[in-house]
Parts: sequence; C-alpha cells; structure tokens
Amino acid sequence: MLGSGKNNRSTALDQGQYQLLFDTVPQGIVFHDADGRVIAMNPAAERILGRPAEELVDDPSAEDHGTIREDGSPFPGAEHPSMVSMRTGRGVSDVIMGVYNPREREYRWISITAVPLFRPGEDRPYQVYTLFQDVTRQKRAEQALRDLELSSQAVEAVKAERKRLYDVLDTLPVMICLVTPDYGIAFANRAFREKFGESHGRRCHEYCFGLPGPCDFCQSFRALETGRPHRWEVRHPDGSVIDVHDFPFRDADGSPMVLEMDVDVTDQRRAEKALKESEAKYRALFDSTVVAVAIEELCFDESGTPGFALQDVNPTWERMFGWTKEEAVGRTGRWLKGTTEQDLADILLKVLETGEPSTFEDHLPDADRYYSVSAWKMGAGTVAVEAVDVTDIRRSQREAEEQGKLLQLILDSTPVAIGITDEKGGVVVDNGVLAKIWRGDPSLSGVADYACCRAWWPDTGEPVRPEEWPAARALRGETSTATFDIERFDGSRGALIVSATPIKDAAGKVTGTVWTNQDITDLRRTEQELKRSNAELQQFAYVASHDLQEPLRMVTNYLQLIEKREGESLDEVSKKYMDYAVEGARRMKAMIDDILTYSRVESRANGLEPVDMEKALSIVLKDLNLAISESGASVTHDELPTVLADRGQMILLLKNLVGNAIKYRSEAAPQVHVSVLRNDGEWIFTIEDNGIGIDPKYADKLFKMFSRLHTREEYPGTGMGLAIAKKIVERHHGRIWFESELGRGSVFHFSIPLDAGRYGRGSGLNKK
Ligand code: ADP
Repeated sequence: MLGSGKNNRSTALDQGQYQLLFDTVPQGIVFHDADGRVIAMNPAAERILGRPAEELVDDPSAEDHGTIREDGSPFPGAEHPSMVSMRTGRGVSDVIMGVYNPREREYRWISITAVPLFRPGEDRPYQVYTLFQDVTRQKRAEQALRDLELSSQAVEAVKAERKRLYDVLDTLPVMICLVTPDYGIAFANRAFREKFGESHGRRCHEYCFGLPGPCDFCQSFRALETGRPHRWEVRHPDGSVIDVHDFPFRDADGSPMVLEMDVDVTDQRRAEKALKESEAKYRALFDSTVVAVAIEELCFDESGTPGFALQDVNPTWERMFGWTKEEAVGRTGRWLKGTTEQDLADILLKVLETGEPSTFEDHLPDADRYYSVSAWKMGAGTVAVEAVDVTDIRRSQREAEEQGKLLQLILDSTPVAIGITDEKGGVVVDNGVLAKIWRGDPSLSGVADYACCRAWWPDTGEPVRPEEWPAARALRGETSTATFDIERFDGSRGALIVSATPIKDAAGKVTGTVWTNQDITDLRRTEQELKRSNAELQQFAYVASHDLQEPLRMVTNYLQLIEKREGESLDEVSKKYMDYAVEGARRMKAMIDDILTYSRVESRANGLEPVDMEKALSIVLKDLNLAISESGASVTHDELPTVLADRGQMILLLKNLVGNAIKYRSEAAPQVHVSVLRNDGEWIFTIEDNGIGIDPKYADKLFKMFSRLHTREEYPGTGMGLAIAKKIVERHHGRIWFESELGRGSVFHFSIPLDAGRYGRGSGLNKK
C-alpha cells in the first residue's frame, strides 16, 4: 500500500525499510484517501493523537475529532491541512493545530505538513499524506514565556496601581498607613510621616511608640482576624489621643494588610472634656446657687396658643416653690404670677421674641412672699427664669421706712437744728430748726456762705471765720464742737453750740458732713449768772478771809501781850483759858489761810508753763523735811515728766498729797512712792503710802471743804487739803480719786491732760 506512492524515487529503500521507517519515526504520519478518510497512520501518530489506528483508519468522521486552532477556536475539518491539500492539490506546511488526546486527557499541539499524492497523468490527488510533529512541549514553553511576559506586565500594573493609591493616600489630611501582619509598615502617608517621621524599615511598634516588641494595647490586627473594620482609640506617649480606624485590606498581589486611618482627636477630646467640665461646673452652679432657677420651654396647646413648660429646675427652686423636679418638669402651671400688667407667659414670650432680658418683681399674695425675677433667652425656645426671695429685704425696707418716719418725727420735734451738707459744705437737708434759731433762712450753698451767719468766739470776741465753723472743719475730716456768740438775722444776740462730723464713703473720702446747732442762749445766761454768783461768793470768801486776818492777828497779838505781862499772876484756870484762846486763834488763822488758798486757786492763778514735776517734788520734799525726819519716812519716786501746768499749784498739790501720806501713817515708818504713767492723752500721777488707809465709802466726802475723818487730837488739820487738791486738778481739766482700804495704805491718783492748753479758750487756763 505504501509502496504505491508517486515519488518512489529512492529506490535505495525497499519495502521493508519503508515500513520500518514508517513505524519508527517520531513524527506522526497519516494517509487520507480522496474522500478524506484515514487509510493509514503510523504508531507515532497513534501516540500523539491518543487513539488506536483502528479508531481513525477509514473513519469518515475524522474531521470531527475536537481540533482547535492556536487561539483556542474550533478548527473545522474542511480547513484541516489534509483537506486543503486534497482540494487544492497543493502542499500545506507548518499548520499548528490542537488535537484532543483522550488517552492523556489533554490537547496535543501538532505542526502539520500535508503533501498531495498524484497518480501519473492525473491532476487531482488520489491521496494526501500528512506528516505531523508533536510540538506540545515547545508550545507550552512558549505559553510559559508568554505568561511570564504577561505577569511582569501585571507586576508593572500592580506597581502603577499601588503608586496611584499611595499618591491619593498621601494627599489625604488624615494619617494613613498600611501595616503588614509581621508589623511592617508597607506605607505611611504624608500626614502620618509628619507626625511620626520616616519609618526607615522599623516595625510599627518601634516606629510609632518606640517599643521593642508589639504593643500590648494594640488592636490593629483585629480587622484582619474578623475581616471587618475595627475602630479604637489610643493615647500616644506625647499626650495626643488618636482615633484609629482599621480596615482589612488586600494588596494588588493579594497579600493581607491592615489599612489604618488615624485621626488626631486630641483637640476634640480636650474640647469635649472642657465642655463636659464646664457643663459640670454650670450644673454644679445651677444645683448649688441660692437663687431659684427654672428653665422654661416654649410649647403650644391644642388650640395653638403658646405657653411654657418647665424643662429643668434646681434644688433651690424645689425648696422655694414646693414642687420636686420630677413633679415640676413638663408642667405648664404657673409658679410665678407675672407683673400686674403682664402674665408670666407673656413676659417670657417677649423675652424669646426680642432676646432682651426682663427683670421684674413678683408678689405671691397667698404665701405673702416677694421675688426679684430675671428672665433671659437661653436658646431658640428656652428661657431661663431666676427668682430670688426678697421678702425679708422688703420687710426690713418697710421697717426702715417706718423707722425713718420715726426718726423724721424726732428730728421734727427736737429743738436742735440737725442737717447734712454736701462735699462743698452746702446744706442739703435740715430739720427746719436752723431757720428758727437764726430767725431767718441762712440758705448756705458752700463754706463761703457761712460768713452770712455772724458769730464770735466768746473768749476772745473775735469773729468766727467761715473756715472755722465745725462743718468746714468736718469737710477737712475733723469732728469738732464749738460755742459761739451769735447775732441772728433779726439783730438779736444769742449763743450756739455748733458741732459737725464728716461723712465718709467706703474709700474714706469725705462726701459731706452732719451738723447740729443748739441754741444755748438761755443756758448761757444761767451759766453766766452762776459764774457771777460764784465769783461773788469767791470774792466774798477771799475778802472775808483776808479781812478776817487783820482782826485775828490783833486778837492773837493782844492775847500774847496779856500772857507776857500777866502770865505770872494768872491762876491755873485763867492760864488754861488763855491757852484755849491762843490755840483757837491759831486754828482760825490756819483755816482762814486755807480758805484764802482755796479761793486763790481760781482768782490768783498763774498761766500754764512747762513744769518739771521732778523739781516740783524736790521742793515739796524740802518743805516737808521736818515731818519726814521726825517720822522716819522714806519717799521714793519714778522719773517724773514735765507737764504743762501752773507751777505753784503743782507744788501745792504734791505737798498736800505727800504730806497726807506721811501724816496719816500707821505704826510703821511711812513709805511713800510717787509714780506716773502715760494714759490716753494724759499723765496719771500716783501717790502711794503704807498708812492707816481710808474706808472707800468716804470716796466723795473727803474732797469736800472742811471734811475730816479724824479729830484734831488724833491728827491735826483743817480738812481743806484734799478740797484744794481737787480744785487745782479740776482747774487743769484733770481728775482726782483714790483707792484704799482701812489699814491697808492709800493710793491717790490725779491726772493732768497732756495738752491742758487746748482748753485755753474760756477755761481761764491760759490767763497770764
Ligand atoms: P486734813 O489733812 O487737813 O484733815 P485733808 O483734806 O487733807 O484734810 O484730808 C481730809 C481727810 O482725809 C483727812 O482728815 C484724813 O482723814 C483723810 N486722809 C487724807 N489723806 C489720807 C491718807 N493718805 N491716808 C489716810 N487718810 C487720809
């Protein structure tokens, strides 16, 4: 059969050799007849096609064996090279075809060459001989190569895609990074790098938190574990708070990662915290204030009429209005009345509309309580209403008003002129008495106007200058009182006691004065009369004692003469009577001397001068030398000051007190001590002895004229010493008193003002 080929040129091969070749060549060889039927195929063909020769040989449906082209599309039988060659009578070479090999269960790729066979003289082939070679391996290698090319393209595409993604992520303002499961940072966007810097290949825990191993608080990989986004919050060591959003993510090459988006919420958290704190603060204020506060919310009833419902109330409100918060919230009932003109709801509506706060006073007659109320807009439909219970204030105001009326009554009925001036000295208020005193309205609008009130200093007769009036001095911050002689507007004369005191504001600035004018004309007259009668009496005492001295001296002298001449011839009784008469006359002289001294305290007074009390005391001690040495007394003293006083009277004063201290001694030798201390504006001198003491019940009596507690036999004396001492001290505007107990010694004190001179005017102290 094979030997029937047209070109059996090589006669060198015999039939057997052909057969061997046919059976052993690695290429498949198939013969088709003119009808396309396979008439022969070699073992290589059978192997490549995966079918036994029997199945194909003479199989008219050969064309139906699943053949495909290189691009995978079906390869129709009519297009097979054998068929083309048969039809065209031309050879076809190197056609690639995929043939399904059922034995191998895969396609085999073959490269086919078809050669037409002709019988001599015929132009149509009677057979086609097909030679094909298994190129599957080569084809696979090509495919692999193509695949390889394709995958490198894919890698490029992935790279480009990734770059684009990274570029986009870089532009986002939030921090974004891609974390691989082994804690690597595949990417960190610009915002992320701005916060944490470059990662330089560090693991995420080291990069972001400086920790050598994974952070124990990390929740980033939960997204990978669950496959769902996970959100959590972390506080960075620098104090920032980060809101972390993790998403499971696959890279273009399919590798799992976490896409982490970090939002720095530090400021937001801080603001939230601050807000919370401030809310808490306001809440605390709301809850603890002594002011009742209610929040009212606008609402409408079924008919659409606007009203207000309580939204919140504080504890003070609960206490003040008697509803608990639970009872109150949501209620539309009125808890305040509103003003007389407007209902509460109308007031609140107006506040809401205008945004202007409203303040008013409310009186709830049932409870008889007054409230000071303020309402202000809080939000679109809410108004805060604040109420302070002012009942007590109102009541005390009422009381003050009543007291004011009472005061007015007193002011109106007092004979003293009382008034207030402004800071310039202008009279702004007075009780109307001033005009009565002056018999005309002095209309005073400032210190200069005081000149219209004619007044004189009583002691000097000099006119009082406007700036010397107590009100003018009060404007300079001084409180003072003065006595003036005046001429009223009707020309009549009188006397006034004028005083004024400054009114100061909280800063101590003088803002005005309160003054009084008291008409003492009548009082003055009485006083002057008293003075005159006193003076007359004094004059009488002086004249009497002075004039009595002369006859007394005569009596004494003649008695002494009689005693001298008739002494020897007088009998005992007459001698005794003579002694009595002489003694009586001497006592009378002493009394007259003392009365004279007493009356001279005022009438023969010297002016004030600095008196060294230490020197004064030494003079006294010299005078008392005899008494001191007789009694064995010791007189000690502190360092004594210089005082402004009448020198002679100071000596007399000390002499009387120290003399008494020695005279009224007990069994023991007298111990006398003179001390001094400086008290508020005065010197207080003290003469202390260890004598017989005095029963305190005689405190007042002792300083009266001729008062004595002892008989002449017990202790000599006239009873005038302490009376004179008192007069001297009082003339110096001081005081005299004693402390004692019987048998316990006595302590006499007297005071001398530091500036006795200030009593100068009218006191006679500075007469020279
Ligand atoms: P006189 O000493 O002349 O009696 P005084 O007026 O000095 O008069 O004293 C009045 C009386 O006060 C004295 O009689 C005496 O009883 C009492 N008296 C005065 N000083 C002392 C004293 N230091 N201790 C005890 N009694 C005194």
